[in-house]
Amino acid sequence: PKTMVVKIGSSTLVDSDGQIRSEFIADLARQAARLRELGWNLVVVSSGAIASGAPLLGFHTRPTDMPSLQACASVGQCVLSAAWDEGFQSSGLISSLVLITRHDTARRASYLHARDALTRLVELGVVPVVNENDTVSVDEIRFGDNDTLAALVSCLVSADLCVILSDIDGLYTANPSLVPDAEFIPVVTRIDASIVEGAGDSSGAVGTGGMITKVQAARILMTAGIPSVICSGAEPHVLERLATGEAIGTRFE
Ligand code: ADP
Repeated sequence: PKTMVVKIGSSTLVDSDGQIRSEFIADLARQAARLRELGWNLVVVSSGAIASGAPLLGFHTRPTDMPSLQACASVGQCVLSAAWDEGFQSSGLISSLVLITRHDTARRASYLHARDALTRLVELGVVPVVNENDTVSVDEIRFGDNDTLAALVSCLVSADLCVILSDIDGLYTANPSLVPDAEFIPVVTRIDASIVEGAGDSSGAVGTGGMITKVQAARILMTAGIPSVICSGAEPHVLERLATGEAIGTRFE
């Protein structure tokens, strides 16, 4: 069987008041069940721990100090994992929680342990839900973003495809919310300076800046020979359609 890694951003998983979008999770779990019939295993990289924990601790906006962020992550990870567990159970699947820190992939021995554990889970038919261990990963030991984590997990499990679901349908020549005539890029075979600039690295673009980490993840994956796709999480049946070769979003290969 083939293996797909799907990364889901906070904005797709958690709505603006911190509520987990359980309907999205239920739909993704149904897709995971159908992927299995198509001969694909799935590994999920899930953001959203801090966003779903913050309101439970009375924060109306995301806190800025590290201990509060760690506390939010710790609380949020529990409710988020419970939501994933419930979603997969409803589709007859077993999920598991894998929390990873950068140390786990930087040191050879722990890299191999992480690889063996994930590989075995997938072999056993489990859908691992991976997140950075935000509660203990501070500053320099953080991946910083789950896009990079998704790329590393894809390498760990020798994925056949890495899908990054976002709130936008793919990569454009510039941020379309700032540059109205930005053009959609369906396929990227080389990440050059214009791609990096358009994704918001050196342009000093304000706001999310979320595309640059996705492009960097795609670069890691291209080096590893693993194709990746950036597309919208709102696209119906997106994982099954990608598994059957449909062209959706921006493909890096
Ligand atoms: P997520 O939470 O899904 O990880 P982000 O919100 O961090 O996603 O990043 C996606 C956002 O990046 C888009 O909604 C868009 O506003 C912005 N963006 C910046 N540059 C680009 C670009 N070149 N192409 C597409 N989107 C871009």
